[in-house]
Amino acid sequence: MGGHFLSIGECMVELSQAEDGHLRKGFAGDTFNTAWYARACLPDDWSVHYFTALGDDAMSDEMLDFMRAHDIGTSNIGRLRGKTPGLYMINLKDGERSFSYWRDNSAARQLAADGDRLRTAIEASNVVYFSGITLAILTHEDAETLLAELRRAKAVGKLVVFDPNLRPRLWSSFDAMHTMIGEGARASTLVMPSFDDEASHFGDDSIASTIRRYRQHGANMVVVKNGAEGATVGTDAGETLVPAAKVESVVDTTSAGDSFNGAFLAHYLEHDDPVAAARFAAKIAAKVIQEHGALVAPEKLQTTK
Ligand code: ADP
Repeated sequence: MGGHFLSIGECMVELSQAEDGHLRKGFAGDTFNTAWYARACLPDDWSVHYFTALGDDAMSDEMLDFMRAHDIGTSNIGRLRGKTPGLYMINLKDGERSFSYWRDNSAARQLAADGDRLRTAIEASNVVYFSGITLAILTHEDAETLLAELRRAKAVGKLVVFDPNLRPRLWSSFDAMHTMIGEGARASTLVMPSFDDEASHFGDDSIASTIRRYRQHGANMVVVKNGAEGATVGTDAGETLVPAAKVESVVDTTSAGDSFNGAFLAHYLEHDDPVAAARFAAKIAAKVIQEHGALVAPEKLQTTK
């Protein structure tokens, strides 16, 4: 069957400390991580593409080379003169990780400024994935452009998938976040929130209330991730809890949710069974949290691809 999967957002340069104190450079970002795991889990008759904006510097070149080397399409990525990618650094102190970001002025903030380019990319796709972070980094006008294109995609029957990925610090106010996350859900077919975030920021007292809220916004299906407790699939047919896979020792939970989303979508697109997809995604996420870093090599995931 096959098709064309598109993920839209910001991929950043990642600096992390190696054991000898040197800095290690990588590339990561929520929507890019999901594209990575979708690529790892989808069969070869699917193409996976990333949509963002980059600068015209050497780091942007290197990021594009990295994407292409891992079979992630870059053909619609625009290059902006004088701009650079965003950057973040993982700090490790006494076993606790914290993050510093330099992304306020990144090229990706203008990813929706060229509406024609965005439309071309979405029109060529069967599945479009984006997140609350994608919306948060845009100007209000550009976020409206993106949402309009996503609503069009949903209206013509494409699968539009949204992870709210709530990050209050990226929004100008709680109200802006609340309104735009609602708009994101309205433009989507499938919403994939994390219960922790929804409970902390929107006060949900149960997974059922998260599912109800996003379905009221207009999403047809909601899959709520809840760490070691598993994930709940909410459809017209009701709610089904799919337990997490057992993990003896968690090494690094970075990308747990992003990998779950990518694996879920890969399975769902091939088999059209959301509960089986959540079972598969739980297995992949369990492998990801037993390795270091956001992007675990496909060989280590042992997908049945
Ligand atoms: P996020 O990274 O978005 O906060 P979660 O923490 O809910 O997402 O994790 C996403 C998925 O990763 C879960 O649904 C589960 O399948 C898996 N997962 C996360 N933490 C664990 C854990 N401690 N043990 C087993 N699976 C886990």
